Amino acid sequence: MESSQYDIAIVGGGILGLSTAMQLLERAPHWRVAVVEKEEELATHQTGHNSGVMHSGIYYRPGSYKAQFCVAGLNNMVKFCEENEIEFQQCGKVIVAIHESELGRLQDLYERGTANGVPDLEIVGPERLKEIEPHTAGVKALYAPHTGIVNFIKVAEAFAAKFQQAGGDIFTGAAVRKITRSGGTVTLETTKGNLQAKHLINCAGLYADKVASMTDEKVGVRIIPFRGEYYTLRPESHHLVSGLIYPVPNPEFPFLGVHFTRNIKGHVEAGPNAVMAMRREGYRKRDFSLKDSLGNLGYPGFWKMAAKYWKIGMGEVWRSYNKGVFLRDLQTLIPEIQASDLAGGGSGVRAQAVARDGSLLDDFSIIQGRDVIHVLNAPSPGATSSLAIGEHIAGLAIDNFN
Ligand SMILES: Cc1cc2nc3c(=O)[nH]c(=O)nc-3n(C[C@H](O)[C@H](O)[C@H](O)COP(=O)(O)OP(=O)(O)OC[C@H]3O[C@@H](n4cnc5c(N)ncnc54)[C@H](O)[C@@H]3O)c2cc1C
Repeated sequence: MESSQYDIAIVGGGILGLSTAMQLLERAPHWRVAVVEKEEELATHQTGHNSGVMHSGIYYRPGSYKAQFCVAGLNNMVKFCEENEIEFQQCGKVIVAIHESELGRLQDLYERGTANGVPDLEIVGPERLKEIEPHTAGVKALYAPHTGIVNFIKVAEAFAAKFQQAGGDIFTGAAVRKITRSGGTVTLETTKGNLQAKHLINCAGLYADKVASMTDEKVGVRIIPFRGEYYTLRPESHHLVSGLIYPVPNPEFPFLGVHFTRNIKGHVEAGPNAVMAMRREGYRKRDFSLKDSLGNLGYPGFWKMAAKYWKIGMGEVWRSYNKGVFLRDLQTLIPEIQASDLAGGGSGVRAQAVARDGSLLDDFSIIQGRDVIHVLNAPSPGATSSLAIGEHIAGLAIDNFN
């Protein structure tokens, strides 16, 4: 690695770094591009710990990056999976209104999705809902037949293979510790040696703000990690869920509420919740980092966020430690589900950017400087949108780095 010189170095071997890398070389095959990843394997963090849902684009504000990239991203993802023989299913999803009081928000979601160009959305009554999801109860539901499931690790690996076939280099086990810029060269000091490039793309997920600060750029956000914990349904209870069953989300919180997902391996998961993690890669409740915690406490946006969301946050913590409360929420969607249907599951940690005013950034945030592009907020539906986001970043690089 010592003497390597690249046109572009991408920090982060998750689905976004790899999609960007692949599409850069598709469009600018003469460029030398490297991906630098701190773990020994690719796709080990958000990309490897998510629900595996290919979202259709219902929830997002029309015109937002999320709306555009999710709708385009799903189409591209389906095509990519077909062409590369990656297993996926468009099993469909229902968003279920449990009470009459949720019908207004369900209708809003229908209108949003339609405005975003999501095809074939339908508001269905209880009888049709029973045909789609026989064990679910609700007054009405929004049915999105094209929402699907896939293993995003497999997708990321396919991006990596194509990138390498096109001549790109991937360095794993190479954590970027320091970045210096001088005379048109960006030098990355990594745990595996130095790498030099003319330009940098920061796709570091849970560490995107840290990598940005190594470039001395003021990006005005801090990544706060939110752990999502899952239960799995025991095999004998899998019949309770045919596809994807979601509640009507709380519009004040950017997470979707605990739901049921049948994944591509045939397992059924219930969750995730959204609990603030005490470590950036804190997958277990007991994981704690003094450095991360002190960093949060010293950030003004943290206190403003806490003042705004403390009530919802306490509810999430309560549910995290109390299986009965988790179960009660799940029973609103599937009344017959019991504690005995649930076994322990995994978890994932979302990289959520928080602004200095305490707001949780809702949209994807991709910002561009003279010789660097930072992806600062790419939570769900980031994996679904990865081909569209990568295309956008590759376009920014080609237009501006030349
Ligand atoms: C619980 C959960 C459920 C989700 N469900 C869905 C879903 O169903 N559908 C969907 O579309 N999206 C979902 N998402 C969101 C989706 O997973 C993310 O949007 C996507 O994976 C983001 O990819 P990424 O490449 O930005 O981040 P990551 O996959 O986290 O990759 C970032 C990489 O950067 C590396 N890195 C960090 N710092 C350094 C450094 N200093 N040096 C070198 N490398 C570094 C990390 O090791 C990591 O591999 C979910 C996320 C979570 C957490």
